[in-house]
Amino acid sequence: MRAVAAVVLAACGAVSASAAELRYTLTPEVEHGALRAIGVELVLRGEDDGSTEIELPNEWGGKSELWRGISEFRVSGDGLRLSDGGSPFLKTLRHKPGATLTVRYRITQFWQGEPTVNGSNEYRPIVQPGYFHIIGWTAFARPRWRLATSASVSFRGLAPGWRLASDLEHDQRSLSLADVLESVSVGGDFRVTTAGVLRVAMRGTWPFSDEAFVKRLDPIFASHNRFWGDEPAPYLVTVLPLIAEAGSMSLGGTGLGDAFAFFATDNMPDRELTRVLAHEHLHSWIPRRIGMMPQENDVSEYWLSEGFTDFYTNRLLVRDGLWSVEEVVRSLNAVMWAYAFSSVRNVSNTTLAGDFWKSQAMNELPYQRGLLIAALADDKVRRASKGARDLDDVVLAMKRAIDAASNAAPPPAIRGHFVAKMKEQGVDVSADIARFAEEGETVLLPADIWAPCGVLWTGEVAAFDRGFDGMKTIANKNVLVGVDPQGPAYAAGLRDGMRIRRLDLSEGRDSRVPLTYQVLLDGGGVRDISYLPAGKRKVMLQELQLKTFADTQSRAACAARLGGDNGVASAAR
Ligand SMILES: [Zn+2]
Repeated sequence: MRAVAAVVLAACGAVSASAAELRYTLTPEVEHGALRAIGVELVLRGEDDGSTEIELPNEWGGKSELWRGISEFRVSGDGLRLSDGGSPFLKTLRHKPGATLTVRYRITQFWQGEPTVNGSNEYRPIVQPGYFHIIGWTAFARPRWRLATSASVSFRGLAPGWRLASDLEHDQRSLSLADVLESVSVGGDFRVTTAGVLRVAMRGTWPFSDEAFVKRLDPIFASHNRFWGDEPAPYLVTVLPLIAEAGSMSLGGTGLGDAFAFFATDNMPDRELTRVLAHEHLHSWIPRRIGMMPQENDVSEYWLSEGFTDFYTNRLLVRDGLWSVEEVVRSLNAVMWAYAFSSVRNVSNTTLAGDFWKSQAMNELPYQRGLLIAALADDKVRRASKGARDLDDVVLAMKRAIDAASNAAPPPAIRGHFVAKMKEQGVDVSADIARFAEEGETVLLPADIWAPCGVLWTGEVAAFDRGFDGMKTIANKNVLVGVDPQGPAYAAGLRDGMRIRRLDLSEGRDSRVPLTYQVLLDGGGVRDISYLPAGKRKVMLQELQLKTFADTQSRAACAARLGGDNGVASAAR
């Protein structure tokens, strides 16, 4: 028998537990002071036909075989027989019709060590000696019932000194199975900071204080609530540090309705942090509050759910002064640059939906494509209304229609809803969606789309090509390796075997800006070699060339265009 040190009985979060159709209880199992597993108990009423199917977590967020994290699966109940459902993540329970069933299992971490930077967020359950981090989709077994099925979750037996934070702790409203799955729960050596309705649970050390982090979130959240016309609602942010090799940086998160789970290395740059936080929080509205995503392969609508989220991240950050005009222009240009050079820029939406998780280029495409489609739609509404309205009026109308609908009616499919609300503004956007989102044609924006800020330049640009192997050269202690005899570095005089003084691979990346290297000469001294890092491949690029502002008024006009603040629409809100 395991020694389970369940010292403090701190049950919380159970809302009318007796009434819920699914009653979950989570108990951290601590052995010799170290967390070993999370025990889960699920009580439910078996189906009237005497057979109930229980589905274990399998795939979510690009992670697979999640059922491996579940062990010692046992069930008790009247007349119970447990049989396999023909796959490792399906269990069929046969029982007396309507019998009360108790399902028990343990969640353990089925991979080694602490979460590290490995190219994707660690969504799988994390159960470390001193803490846990659990996303609902990856940890909760469930009957194959409607997501609206009522549910309750309680936490028991937290060790002394441990903190718990979960967006399942709600004292006002009851939970549904959807809430349980769409959740994050952390416990252990997390620190929890509260500011109004916002809670932040973080562990590890960061270059900033917990309070400074909360302070950074506050104006972003206020900006979003103001835009959507909503009162601040309880929100949880969890912050999990990732172990990184020197020089690598990672930052990501996943929005979970009334929470987001955030993963980062402690060296993340400030500007990126703001962008990711704002993006994730906007997912509280996009897509869930403006339309329904497809049940199967929702990647096909990521151009809308992710692209529009990125569009509004930029727009609201500049509108509320959290980003300068320069910062938002840099962000927009970075998207257009990455899109121009994307190796998969013109793949169809069908290909994208099938290959989304297979490469980083695929992964980034719907964000780039969708942001540009949003910008195009914004521009078309502005033109059709002679500057009176823009995309804001469209997405706010989408939200209002759903807010006003009865709870019983499922929300309209997001794409059709968007098309309908665009039509109300006098713009038929369906042909654009077919060309740019479905067929993958290159999105080109009009030159005057952000006219108060400057011209959107369109032209051919050479791909960035350093002309030698940067990674291998660093590994070779700055002695050049892989100088391409056909490339720009060779033409400028660099050769294999030359030693250069300094090499920073994060510098440059723009083929129009010269690179300069200092070659160390045999007899001492250095020789500067400069060249344009221009490769043979050329692509069509769009870039906003920010003008020099004559006065604060013209700068404000640019900020208003980027921020979608056209005066008339905001006055009408
Ligand atoms: Zn997102």
